[in-house]
Amino acid sequence: MYGTGAIGQHGPMPVLTHDEAQTRAQLLDVRRYSVELDLTTGETFESRTVIGFTARAAGDTFVELKPATLRSATLDGRHLDPERLDGNRLPLTGLTEGEHELRIDATMHYSRTGEGMHRFTDPADGETYVYTQLFLDDVQRVFAAFDQPDLKAVFALTVTAPDGWTVLANGVTTHHGDGRWTAAPTPRIPTYLVAVAAGPWHSVRTEHRGLPFGIHCRRSLARHLDEDADEILDITRQCYDRYHEKFEEPYPFDSYDQAFVPEFNAGAMENPGLVTFRDEFVYRSAVTDTERQTRAMVIAHEMAHMWFGDLVTLRWWDDIWLNESFAEYMGYQTLTEATRFTDTWTDFGIGRKSWGYDADQRPSTHPVAPDPDKVPDTASALLNFDGISYAKGASALRQLVAWLGEKDFLAGINTHFARHRFGNATLVDFLDSLAEATDRDVHTWAAAWLRTTGVDTLTRGSPPKPAPGASTSTATAAARTA
Ligand SMILES: [Zn+2]
Repeated sequence: MYGTGAIGQHGPMPVLTHDEAQTRAQLLDVRRYSVELDLTTGETFESRTVIGFTARAAGDTFVELKPATLRSATLDGRHLDPERLDGNRLPLTGLTEGEHELRIDATMHYSRTGEGMHRFTDPADGETYVYTQLFLDDVQRVFAAFDQPDLKAVFALTVTAPDGWTVLANGVTTHHGDGRWTAAPTPRIPTYLVAVAAGPWHSVRTEHRGLPFGIHCRRSLARHLDEDADEILDITRQCYDRYHEKFEEPYPFDSYDQAFVPEFNAGAMENPGLVTFRDEFVYRSAVTDTERQTRAMVIAHEMAHMWFGDLVTLRWWDDIWLNESFAEYMGYQTLTEATRFTDTWTDFGIGRKSWGYDADQRPSTHPVAPDPDKVPDTASALLNFDGISYAKGASALRQLVAWLGEKDFLAGINTHFARHRFGNATLVDFLDSLAEATDRDVHTWAAAWLRTTGVDTLTRGSPPKPAPGASTSTATAAARTA
């Protein structure tokens, strides 16, 4: 995710707690979702989901869904009463140890708030577009899911769309005629990263090192996207190549699409293989080079998440700062190394870091890495999307790289990717991976920099004997966290 905006409005539905997530992750191993979406039915859409999962023991749990109408639900062929849907939770009781199949058939609402399946009709030409934003816990607005980041699974999507539409998804999509599209099944990814974008997109497609690349926008912006297509794709190629020099793990997905979508709340979202950007990044008039740099920075930031966030995913939302700080640090650094934007850290110092200083001097400040107890549920995780999580965290990581040396830092990162690929990891796992690559005590570093709050004050060690008549106060200077 990049930037801030009105992210997440939580209604009266219960939010998932960390305790509930841990209990469910111990009970379940989720293998595969087969999801069928029908986008041709008018003011709502149809959603059919088959979830294959294993219970490690006998027990009770629940699956999340926020339907307009829950038509039917079956567990291993046994009918479940749709009336038992309580808020967004359908109880699954009396599970036996072993494999299960849950089938859910529902009618769903489109969204006008950018959460779930957002639907937009372009006033310029009357064309309609839909796209998903499922971050945090909004997948349940589109299909039934065990909606937490550490229950990763394979997702196989089928979408029926109106004539003349193109369907984009995490995996490469294929049109079978009659408006029916399938997406290649994903590797194991978390529920919050599933993505679909459908509509009469204007697309520019190419290939880089054997991988399909595409950029997309609504038709009424086609001319403006075409004007900047070379620049956007050049930045994409340069960052892609540079990340492959830094990271041993190759790009983990089968395609790289970047869709510039209308009415997007955030700056961008790192869905594997289908990054979504607010379409204000398709510039419609003359812009400054700083604005071009900002767009390039967001491209680099989201691509960093393909490894950090998408390949290796946080276990719970207390580590969202690490996800964002890593992408922020890596995005700025990679842009500086690989593109014509060589002075990005100046922009960071002026544009982003002051955001961190400001947040860190308020009573509401918090450690870069919050105590997991301070993130008891999904709703509280959103409160940490601030200048501490992005700017101070990225500053701390930059300081860490300077202290360890880039070679050891990257060796630690590559250990981390290899060890947790297509899985989940915590801050402690990250530090353990780094510790293997260096003699320095990264755990103590983390305690000093990540678990504390506030800017530092540098004080002169022993004040000189004051000259007659001079002030006796000790000189102090507020110093900024690195
Ligand atoms: Zn991000």
